[in-house]
Amino acid sequence: MSPLAIHGGSKIRTKKFPPYQVVDHEVELAVSQVLRSGVLSRYLGAWHQDFYGGPQVRAFEEAWAHYFGVKHAIAVNSATSGLYAAVGAAGIEPGDEIIVTPFSMSASAVAPLVYHAIPVFADIEKDYFCLDVASIEQRITPRTKAILIVDLFGLPYDVQAINELARRHKLLVIEDCAQAPGAFYKNKSAGTLGDMGIYSLNYHKHIHTGEGGVVVTDNDELAERLRLIRNHAEAVIDAKGDAHFTNMIGFNYRLTEMQAAIGLVLLKRLNTLVETRVENVAYLEKRLAAIPALTMPKVRQDSTHAYYLHAIKFNEQIAGVSRNTFVNAIKAELEVTEWRETEGVKINGGYVKPLYLQSIYQKKQVYGTSHYPWSLQAQGSEVSYAQGICPVTERMHEHELIIHELMRPGMTTHDLDDVVRAFEKVWENRKVL
Ligand SMILES: *Cc1c(COP(=O)(O)O)cnc(C)c1O
Repeated sequence: MSPLAIHGGSKIRTKKFPPYQVVDHEVELAVSQVLRSGVLSRYLGAWHQDFYGGPQVRAFEEAWAHYFGVKHAIAVNSATSGLYAAVGAAGIEPGDEIIVTPFSMSASAVAPLVYHAIPVFADIEKDYFCLDVASIEQRITPRTKAILIVDLFGLPYDVQAINELARRHKLLVIEDCAQAPGAFYKNKSAGTLGDMGIYSLNYHKHIHTGEGGVVVTDNDELAERLRLIRNHAEAVIDAKGDAHFTNMIGFNYRLTEMQAAIGLVLLKRLNTLVETRVENVAYLEKRLAAIPALTMPKVRQDSTHAYYLHAIKFNEQIAGVSRNTFVNAIKAELEVTEWRETEGVKINGGYVKPLYLQSIYQKKQVYGTSHYPWSLQAQGSEVSYAQGICPVTERMHEHELIIHELMRPGMTTHDLDDVVRAFEKVWENRKVL
């Protein structure tokens, strides 16, 4: 075998990996029909029938609600907007606390701050990487109002235990399902497992409309609050007349007609796209099983996994080499993915730096130079964002996880084999790393 590519040997793979391509003729046709209609968005920010959007948006919402088995689907222009709207609809007071995860895209933790609530970080599960129920329980105080939980990497959270905990403490569960559309817990769709669920339709997600998102709920009142926040609540509510809904500022979180038309087409493919990910992961896991330093991600009982990312645990003791050294050697053996060339080879050590280590938490400053809303916390009960508050998250990020996207639909068996061969080559040569 040739020396490792990182030492100047020849690479396993010299051709780029195929792009993740979901846009096809049917999508093109749907978009051009909207273009020809001339109506690219039909929203009015006033109490009027168009307050709820145009025909594509409404058809998309109806299809989404039907597909996921939920009463209301509210289309928005991103999951970030959806998270903000969900926190807004939850009706929290400034200084209230919301328990969040440090291991996610930044918006999943920062959303409470938009409504002057305080994010309190709990730790994750060492086997499933979602919020850990025991850690959540330790963080609950009299000011806690909600849990903002993420179905991380595509696996639903610990529904039974966490919903039960939330019920006991009268907390809302907001489920960030950006990474898990098409996953299930006991025949119930991920995203519909808490009080409100949020999906993302951005370019990197299972199905995408460029940018976009959807919030779902079975609760009529939360649904109407979400629609008001999406579309200029304060300008609508007096004419609309729901007296107990007057305390909301609205935004413009509206999805366009073209985006909705794309979403309508791609929703029909979600099932197949998730199935392909599951098959590709099964193939990789079978072939990588011979490497003793690797532990494949577990799937929680009664759940299915949508594999937004494939998170493999690496044991540095067994390997005798650091995770980062190992991953860098694999990167050197492989090629970038088409359309995402600037991102490097799509395999990495760790996920995101634990979010509480970001400057806004370290400095506790988001509104000018004040320390609001943290300044609302009683002396002696200030939340801590110190290094070490979530040891499992820190260990996963620093030492244990290898995360890749090289199982996306579009990868052929030959492409997957190259990924396996890179792992095997680096493993066999680990002594010279
Ligand atoms: C992608 C993602 C988001 C944000 O989605 P946008 O649609 O880009 O705003 C939020 N949470 C998680 C867990 C994500 O993966």
